[in-house]
Amino acid sequence: MSLLLRGTMINFLRLVFRSLFTRLAAVMFCAVIGINVITYSLYVGLEFGHETTINRSLMEYARSMANAIGVPPDIAVARQLAEERIMRITVDGSTSFVVGETQRRFPDRFLKPRFAVDGMEVSSLHGFYRVKVPVAPDVSITFDLFPTAEENAALHTYGIISLVGTCLIMFALYLAVRYLLRPVGWLTKGAAAVRDGELGSRVPEKSSGELRELSETFNQMAARLESLIDGHQKLLLGVSHELRTPLTRLKLRLAMLGEAVNIDPICKDIRQMETMIAILLDAARMRHDTMTLNLESVDMADLLSDAATLYGDSPPGVRFVSPGIPVVATVDRLRMEVLISNLIDNAIKYSARESAPVELLLSHTDEGVEFSVSDQGIGIPDDALEHLFEPFYRVDESRTPRTGGYGLGLYMCQAIAEAHGVVIKVESRLGVGTTMRVVIPG
Ligand code: ADP
Repeated sequence: MSLLLRGTMINFLRLVFRSLFTRLAAVMFCAVIGINVITYSLYVGLEFGHETTINRSLMEYARSMANAIGVPPDIAVARQLAEERIMRITVDGSTSFVVGETQRRFPDRFLKPRFAVDGMEVSSLHGFYRVKVPVAPDVSITFDLFPTAEENAALHTYGIISLVGTCLIMFALYLAVRYLLRPVGWLTKGAAAVRDGELGSRVPEKSSGELRELSETFNQMAARLESLIDGHQKLLLGVSHELRTPLTRLKLRLAMLGEAVNIDPICKDIRQMETMIAILLDAARMRHDTMTLNLESVDMADLLSDAATLYGDSPPGVRFVSPGIPVVATVDRLRMEVLISNLIDNAIKYSARESAPVELLLSHTDEGVEFSVSDQGIGIPDDALEHLFEPFYRVDESRTPRTGGYGLGLYMCQAIAEAHGVVIKVESRLGVGTTMRVVIPG
């Protein structure tokens, strides 16, 4: 078996045995098999393990046959007895012989000892019985009784019925576990949707008991999260909006001061504040649905190629190999340009001048149009990944807006992506580099 196949099988088995569903189903299957084994053992134990009437009769029957054969054993009597019934008679002692059914196999190795009384031993297995009767100090006669053809057929029928019954019970259990665990599937999907930004997503509250409670709590949590984030966005929108007016007034008043005072540093600060407010307002509006996207069919190859040309001269440079055919996606061209520029800008900013050029890749996948921006720069620590798209978040807080950015670039990218129903996936290793992957659903 090839290594790849073995690896895939091991992964598949790991996945199967990690699943709560398969574990529960396995526990139930084991329970059914366990109950079957216990019931069968109890039945066999009760039926054959004690001195019941049937067992006593069997022993008396064997004893009377042994008496008839006598001591020393009479082979003619033994042969006659064995022929009358389906039986094999074995005499062990000074004179030994075997008569009767010698062709059919007797399951000697698998016989289960049942009980022993007065030196007589009884063992059996599925219709085969063996009774050993000591008749003299060194002489014993063993009677091996074979099941008849009808008994055999009945045993097979019971075996098949019990096998089919067990399979049916297992299948019913499988369906029951699947049905009972439906809410777990809904919750997993719901949680994934909320994680991906679909805050309005809710799970059905159809089950009962603990899982229903869990679904209700999940929905309440999602609703609370939605209202918190909504409030947060409204606050950002409001504050940014309100800050614009005093800033404009400040600019006018500064202009009136004339040349007596050096207002350049103040003007620079004001421009920075204006940029930040513009980004915050834009992102908040996009998230708040107060601005509709101007969707059109855009050749993403063109967009990436333009961006590569724009940033081509900034070290370490940008490399884009166009697929040679149009790769069309329905997007807001201007917004998509901003998203691409921000990603490339970061890739360049967080790479050394002499490192490999930033690489842009574009392809059609099953999910839609996918493009990625990869750099071999400083990388991002694992614990920072979940905060990357928060406003004003910078991995290295010691960077000021002058040495780094405002920490708003990825926040803006996320707002644009969300408005398009797109997810930005980040893969990064510290000291190795970062890849930002964007999939635009087709
Ligand atoms: P900034 O304007 O500070 O770059 P962003 O929102 O664009 O803000 O990025 C947030 C933080 O994420 C950055 O401060 C930086 O620490 C980190 N970051 C983003 N892109 C990269 C990248 N390609 N390589 C390394 N770190 C990155």
